[in-house]
Amino acid sequence: MNDKTFPKTENTSLRRLPKRGSYDHAVVHAIIDEAMIAHVGFSGPDGQPFVLPTAVARIGETLIIHGSAISRMMKTLAGGVPLCLSVTHVDGVVLAKSAFHHSMNYRSVTVFGRARMIEDPAAKEAALRALTDHLAPGRWDLLRPVTAKEVKATTVLEIPLVEAVAKVRSGPPVDDAEDLDWPVFAGVVPVKLVKGEPVPV
Ligand SMILES: Cc1cc2nc3c(=O)[nH]c(=O)nc-3n(C[C@H](O)[C@H](O)[C@H](O)COP(=O)(O)OP(=O)(O)OC[C@H]3O[C@@H](n4cnc5c(N)ncnc54)[C@H](O)[C@@H]3O)c2cc1C
Repeated sequence: MNDKTFPKTENTSLRRLPKRGSYDHAVVHAIIDEAMIAHVGFSGPDGQPFVLPTAVARIGETLIIHGSAISRMMKTLAGGVPLCLSVTHVDGVVLAKSAFHHSMNYRSVTVFGRARMIEDPAAKEAALRALTDHLAPGRWDLLRPVTAKEVKATTVLEIPLVEAVAKVRSGPPVDDAEDLDWPVFAGVVPVKLVKGEPVPV
């Protein structure tokens, strides 16, 4: 078990319900590893914020994202601008006796940092392998090998995991005592993201 923790910083200190926070590497890693996508937020040259979804994978203490070499997101992030990346899983809809206490069970992570372009060919290929195998484990080794042209057309960025925090809610609704006899269902409706049966071409 990885018992390391991320430092609590100005960016990652939870002010609302800090008891739901975790700085444990193992907790942060597990939430990221279950994610197919992350949302990456960054500012453009004129300060306009953008938040875009993108595939994500983790190699140790590094996140990997990739994209077309001509993508604005890739070009901007490769310039080393500050970024904030987030990952969210919704695990349940929490139905309380009052609207006020409705909630969701969730696991989410935010990461702050800057991206760096991976230039080393072996490291770039390892990163592309991680992204592919993250979506479909073991697939990279079965595929037609990537060509130099494909690798050149792809920008691969690494984001060191140094400033990160997780927030997790689980469990039943928390109702006010005087509402407990109110005649409406209360409980949790589980939510799951499920892969279906593969459909062959
Ligand atoms: C599930 C998923 C996975 C993806 N994985 C990757 C990936 O691994 N690598 C990658 O490069 N891209 C990925 N994308 C696409 C990514 O979100 C961007 O569309 C893409 O990177 C182009 O970025 P850009 O900055 O060049 O966009 P531009 O074409 O410059 O964007 C122009 C404007 O279009 C809008 N826009 C762009 N993308 C989106 C979007 N996805 N949804 C809604 N509006 C949008 C925004 O308003 C943006 O400001 C993924 C998208 C999804 C939904």
